[in-house]
Amino acid sequence: MKQLYDKAIYDFDNPVSSYWEEISHPDQNSYPKLKGDQQCDIAVIGGGFTGLSTAYHLAKLYQRDVRLLEAGHVGWASSGRNAGFVCLPATKLSIQTLFKRYGIDETKKFFASQVEGMDILDSIIKDHSIECEQIGDGNLDVAHSPHSCDGLKEWGNDLKKYFGINTRWIPKEEFDESGHQSTEQFGAVFMESGFAMNPLAFLGGFAKATVEAGAVLHGHSRVKKWERNGKHRLITDEGSLTANQVVVATNGYTDESLHQSFANRMVPVLSNIIVTREMSEDEFNLQNYKTLNPICNSREILYYYRRMPSNRMLFGTRGDTYGDDQSANKMKDYMTQKFRGVFPSWNDVEISHYWRGTVVMNRDLTPAFGSLDDDQTVHFSYGYSANGNNTTIYCGKKLAEMICESNSGSTNISEIYRGLSPKIPFPFLRLWYLRLYLWYSKLRDKNKKEL
Ligand SMILES: Cc1cc2nc3c(=O)[nH]c(=O)nc-3n(C[C@H](O)[C@H](O)[C@H](O)COP(=O)(O)OP(=O)(O)OC[C@H]3O[C@@H](n4cnc5c(N)ncnc54)[C@H](O)[C@@H]3O)c2cc1C
Repeated sequence: MKQLYDKAIYDFDNPVSSYWEEISHPDQNSYPKLKGDQQCDIAVIGGGFTGLSTAYHLAKLYQRDVRLLEAGHVGWASSGRNAGFVCLPATKLSIQTLFKRYGIDETKKFFASQVEGMDILDSIIKDHSIECEQIGDGNLDVAHSPHSCDGLKEWGNDLKKYFGINTRWIPKEEFDESGHQSTEQFGAVFMESGFAMNPLAFLGGFAKATVEAGAVLHGHSRVKKWERNGKHRLITDEGSLTANQVVVATNGYTDESLHQSFANRMVPVLSNIIVTREMSEDEFNLQNYKTLNPICNSREILYYYRRMPSNRMLFGTRGDTYGDDQSANKMKDYMTQKFRGVFPSWNDVEISHYWRGTVVMNRDLTPAFGSLDDDQTVHFSYGYSANGNNTTIYCGKKLAEMICESNSGSTNISEIYRGLSPKIPFPFLRLWYLRLYLWYSKLRDKNKKEL
């Protein structure tokens, strides 16, 4: 396996020690290993939201014979260990840049698809009565410095003006009362779209629904080799799967040696989360913390946080660029310090959980979706810029639609998603590019605060 980070990041045999794993207790062996030589029409590699959504919609809407292969337990990776924000957008490009690069219509289609992804996710939760601590009636972006207010106000206004998303600017004093107080709170924009959830609990229910729809899931079945002799043959430790078509849904854990077309196109970036012990209402009152809506702040390297229904705080930010255990320990201390810097009244509140996972940034900073130009039987979706929960669900549905309804490999999806992401020059320097970017962003954050 060709890996960018330390092997600790790719320990498929062991679940990460996340809060979600602890409270949701996924059965590690719910889905049997692939054994012997098996066949199916469509094989999906990867058991996160992208893979599950593709398999679910292929089976449910089109009654296709589909099997999914997952290297760890189903939900082992980012889909099962993220912060549970259902928010937008899956790009780091500004609205103005999107307009310039793709035009207004394609950008509108893109934002509409992001909201559609939220709606699909919401209806899957409701249709299958999935208990996943769904909470909140929108998302918040908080200004971390007075100099960030104008930019956030403009963002909120643009979301309303161009995409019809209901937004509202909440001045600092009002947010002090209705949201929370902190050293980095200077007003917030509320977006009436999205919610929060326990992602692993959702994933557990979604995986069951996918099997009920007719798909076959295999856990602990890492594809180690991919042969192409007319059909595709995916080889795991204990079996092989021969299929007419393959969907690659491996995002930040993609083994770049498996298929050349996907090599050197992604920058997996580590993101980290800490969770506190349960806090009392009196403790929440110390920061006047009331809102249950998920929050991102306006830093370049943003902090994301939320009060959970279990009365703990979840706090996340970027990770290190090595992935080894030593860096993880340093990162945990760094994050604890940042969390306490933002919420000083919680200086003594213990951190009970820490974990990390990968998100994927593409070179063009937009997701990649489609079928390979030189092999229309291989399909893919990846690179959601840390905004995968609704985007993966949408893209999985669209992949199913594209496979079943189109012979040309195209589908009605915004141009912003279409095609492989461009290759990264000198790909062995990827982590150095990332370090440079993080350093530059830190500088910008510092300047913004000191302006
Ligand atoms: C700490 C953290 C916080 C985040 N917070 C949020 C958030 O709040 N909101 C949001 O929208 N997004 C968030 N994200 C991003 C989001 O989790 C991802 O965009 C999304 O889960 C990607 O889903 P996926 O199915 O494409 O990939 P994954 O969930 O990573 O699944 C890919 C799967 O492929 C499997 N795989 C890889 N290679 C093979 C192989 N050879 N054979 C078989 N299987 C293989 C892996 O084991 C893995 O399970 C966060 C990510 C992280 C890491």
